[in-house]
Amino acid sequence: MVKINVLFDHIATKYDFINDFLSFGTHRLWKKKLVKSIKTETSIPKFLDVASGTGDIAQMIHHRFKQSDIHGIDVSSEMINQAKVRDKDNLIQFSTYNGVKTDFADNIFDGISISFGIRNFEFPEKTMTELNRVKKDGASFYILEFGAPKTFFTKYIFFPLFKLVTLILDLFVKKNDAYKYLMKSSFSFPSGDDFKEFLIKECKLEISEFKYESVSGGICYLYEFK
Ligand code: SAM
Repeated sequence: MVKINVLFDHIATKYDFINDFLSFGTHRLWKKKLVKSIKTETSIPKFLDVASGTGDIAQMIHHRFKQSDIHGIDVSSEMINQAKVRDKDNLIQFSTYNGVKTDFADNIFDGISISFGIRNFEFPEKTMTELNRVKKDGASFYILEFGAPKTFFTKYIFFPLFKLVTLILDLFVKKNDAYKYLMKSSFSFPSGDDFKEFLIKECKLEISEFKYESVSGGICYLYEFK
């Protein structure tokens, strides 16, 4: 079993470059879409970005909601270090936490984002229960995630190409087949309505509203639910 924090600690300094390289920069557009979809009526909203990585989503949320209180958490201390380096003006409160247990009070966040993180949760039920605890009733989760390829484009063009690039990356980062693992987890993860099933069955969440959109021909999905 790959230890997620060890894996991300190892690639933290190269993560942004590799992300741009692997997606040809498209991940920025996907993330913009997530941030644009966030709704709140609170004057100074409080947001939590989980599996924050190097903190780009948290920064983008701050850019959109200037008057806000934003927290970013990640289980990898090296990723959080990179996020802090990026956040030159200390706009975000970054901390190293495994999402299974945080110190936040109940019912405080006006929205929770998770970008390309949920598929890596070791204990999805415990983690989503904890995040649900800190989220205000009525506030939404905003999730970006890859998923099992369903379209011709993702199955036969994008997926084989991505596989080749990740094999090359593993030679480049020389660490325990990190990218091979990430690719495998990306494209075997439930997507669309199967993701809703995953939330109900594996995460034991009660869901009152759920919607999603597939992005870039089904390469990734943007979910919003409460
Ligand atoms: N959100 C960033 C992005 O979209 O570029 C980073 C995504 S990166 C693929 C996945 C991140 O999830 C890693 O930084 C990893 O450390 C974090 N992660 C995995 N399991 C976690 C958990 N249980 N709690 C907090 N962070 C976790």
